[in-house]
Amino acid sequence: MTEGNYDSIKIIIDNFVLNATYPKGIRWECKRCAACCRDTEFRRRILLLLETDVERLLKYSQDFFDSVSCKEPFIGKMKIMDSKCVFLDEEACTVYEDRALLCRTYPFFIEVVQGIYEIKFDSQCPGIGSGRVIGKKFFEELLKICVQNRGLE
Ligand code: SF4
Ligand code: SF4
Repeated sequence: MTEGNYDSIKIIIDNFVLNATYPKGIRWECKRCAACCRDTEFRRRILLLLETDVERLLKYSQDFFDSVSCKEPFIGKMKIMDSKCVFLDEEACTVYEDRALLCRTYPFFIEVVQGIYEIKFDSQCPGIGSGRVIGKKFFEELLKICVQNRGLE
């Protein structure tokens, strides 16, 4: 299956049936390269934060967040210093347990356009195309985690 194929999934959350599409047949394996935590030659890392992300991370620093206008439910973005996330030390995340939702789900993320949910992926992640095929169950769980953190949109 190529990376261009999408299929649908359905979850029930708070008695609400939620349909979404996901990239069917995609392979992915994390290479532990930390490219998702910094800028690369090809792209600048923009990591949007939810209010709950900011609340969790405040115990580590008061200076990790730029309040910029962005699409709801996000309220700003992570500070990037020396081309990397302020919480990256060498190749390790220093706030791993409390990292942002978009860090937890990378390279996958959801886009919601007029109530239509789509699970997408960042093809810049070096792990895309390697390892096992990621199945429907993984995406159902990912969708649940996203909705539980972002709320229904
Ligand atoms: S998710 Fe992708 S970019 Fe991030 S560490 Fe794993 S392979 Fe690297
Ligand atoms: S919070 Fe951690 S996982 Fe997220 S970008 Fe920063 S270093 Fe990477």
